[in-house]
Amino acid sequence: MSTKDFIEKDYYKVLGVPKDATEAEIKKAYRKLAREFHPDANKGNTKAEERFKEISEANDVLGDPKKRKEYDEARALFGNGGFRPGPGGAGGSFNFDLGDLFGGGAQGGGQQGAGGFGGGLGDVFGGLFNRGSSGTTRVQPRRGQDIDTEVTLSFTEAIEGATVPLRMSSQAPCKACSGTGDANGNPRVCPTCVGTGQVARGSGGGFSLTDPCPDCKGRGLIAENPCEICKGSGRAKSSRTMQVRIPAGVSDGQRIRLRGKGAPGERGGPAGDLYVSVHVDTHPVFGRKGDNLTVTVPVTFSEAALGGEVRVPTLGGPAVTLKLPPGTPNGRTMRARGKGAVRKDGTRGDLLVTVEVSVPTELSGKARDALEAYREATVGEDPRAELFQAAKGA
Ligand SMILES: [Zn+2]
Ligand SMILES: [Zn+2]
Repeated sequence: MSTKDFIEKDYYKVLGVPKDATEAEIKKAYRKLAREFHPDANKGNTKAEERFKEISEANDVLGDPKKRKEYDEARALFGNGGFRPGPGGAGGSFNFDLGDLFGGGAQGGGQQGAGGFGGGLGDVFGGLFNRGSSGTTRVQPRRGQDIDTEVTLSFTEAIEGATVPLRMSSQAPCKACSGTGDANGNPRVCPTCVGTGQVARGSGGGFSLTDPCPDCKGRGLIAENPCEICKGSGRAKSSRTMQVRIPAGVSDGQRIRLRGKGAPGERGGPAGDLYVSVHVDTHPVFGRKGDNLTVTVPVTFSEAALGGEVRVPTLGGPAVTLKLPPGTPNGRTMRARGKGAVRKDGTRGDLLVTVEVSVPTELSGKARDALEAYREATVGEDPRAELFQAAKGA
């Protein structure tokens, strides 16, 4: 016996019993047929021998409640022989090998095969139907929804990373009906999709082509008395606040994904993801260029001209001292290594320090005297000489 037999063959028909036959009825039908077609009573009759094999095979499955359930589920799922050979396929062959799909144990013949497919199919359908829980709710687990939300961080929080409370509203199971959608909390398993929530799309294709079941809207359950709170959907809007860790180094406009922080899954399914759009406030002093921070530092004319040491503030750390070389022009940018934004690997970018020569708006008498002395000392130096030369030349 092979797995495709399992899906193609109608064991109920073989034993001549209805689909809802009791165990006793199946036993009785089998005994009667087995006596009739037993090889001892039909020596040399190959047709009877074939029939006897079929009957034994059918009894192996239908006579075992566990195997019978698997068989019923398989046939419901695959549509009672809906897997016909494809247009190009030879008679009886499939577009794909179900035996391979269900594991090598499904191959083989006779008694051994009967034991084998039980294990193989059990693995596959056990996963599909969440079997063994209650026996009636054979509904697939479902992944929770992804949730989009946004957060505004201070400049420093974005650089250092922050744990922020996020208020989120999402679809959660309705409390009134425990997510069943049924007022009595006792919905019916959808007969169309037998609780899977999915129906095969067309025939002859692979069984991965499925559509949400039109009768239960993909829920796998049908509410006879729809819950008034959720109108039978089984879902309700819930809002919750959770603490979310935003990693260091995010920048304005970035969208970060937090795995498994979205809406909770249903029936044991995994949670969805949370997508957070980040807005970052500006800082009065610091700016940002990728991993680097920027700052503009005023220096006096004498500091720029004579050189000197300038203290520069850093974000969230002690000030650093930068050596200004003599003759530093206005607008020169210098680098304080490792004082920038946090990178993904935990290292930091640099702080880019731009020098801005400041001009005093008021002068003390002493300073004025000194500057006038400077003017006298530099008489005849024209900083615009080159400018006019260049303007003429072009
Ligand atoms: Zn359905
Ligand atoms: Zn409800």
